[in-house]
Amino acid sequence: MARHPRLWAAAITLVFAAAAAGCTRAQAATSPSWHAASTSPSPSAGSPSPSASPSSAAASPSPSATSSKPAPPSAPPSASDTPASPKPSKPAGQATGKGPSGSIAVTGTSAVALTFDDGPGPYTSQILDLLAKYHVKATFCVIGRQVHSYPNEIRRIVADGHTLCNHTWDHDEQLKTRTDDQIRDELQKTNDAIHAIVPDAKIGYFRNPGGNFAANTVAIAKSLGMKSIYWTVDPRDWANPGTQSIITNVESHTRAGAIVLSHDGGGDRSQTVAAYRVLLPYLKPRFTLIALP
Ligand SMILES: [Zn+2]
Repeated sequence: MARHPRLWAAAITLVFAAAAAGCTRAQAATSPSWHAASTSPSPSAGSPSPSASPSSAAASPSPSATSSKPAPPSAPPSASDTPASPKPSKPAGQATGKGPSGSIAVTGTSAVALTFDDGPGPYTSQILDLLAKYHVKATFCVIGRQVHSYPNEIRRIVADGHTLCNHTWDHDEQLKTRTDDQIRDELQKTNDAIHAIVPDAKIGYFRNPGGNFAANTVAIAKSLGMKSIYWTVDPRDWANPGTQSIITNVESHTRAGAIVLSHDGGGDRSQTVAAYRVLLPYLKPRFTLIALP
């Protein structure tokens, strides 16, 4: 029995370690199985959230909330949430900061960039539909080996005026530990897969899986013409924290210049889709929303 407290402590440590790892998931990046498993739409795909209501942006986030520091799990909707003001009030301040190894964590202007990772997948078209409805452009960080299964989504991302970002061939979160040739191959194969569908597609950005940028991955991406992008706001939607948690996190943390990380792939993204039904009409009157140029 005496060991139980230690086991609990170990378990809690593991939970927080996983929570701190950005879009890290339990699946091994080298395992071919998680792709198939993670791209099966659930029966509830696209079902609306029962409780998606805008909340106030008046909440004052902690300084760490918009940084790359590991944050505690998103706070649940609380009594501090107040009904949405009929008149949009712009959150004060401007996002600042840099990502690891020289990656970009802000847009560099007052514009806000929405970024969607781990697609293309079965939820990508739902995100594209929402972006089209609100005339918002975004940036998609795609996983190379999924591209051939979703050619229409890749075509539409480009045709709709969104921009593309390379998220490696197989979401290798240990990318920085590979040889330069292996890293270059991960990135080049992904660009080739996109260009097989849209030959002249511009792929101007790279996002290291898990945000695990290092000097080698950033430099090789640069040699292939891609800027490395981190993020400012991470609603942890990949962990399915609840639609309202995603909404509250993005609404309370987004500042002018922010890069918002979300996911259109990597599992059941129905919470993300439901959240953006609320977030797009919230964000649009408050910020200039751009696809990273
Ligand atoms: Zn990812």
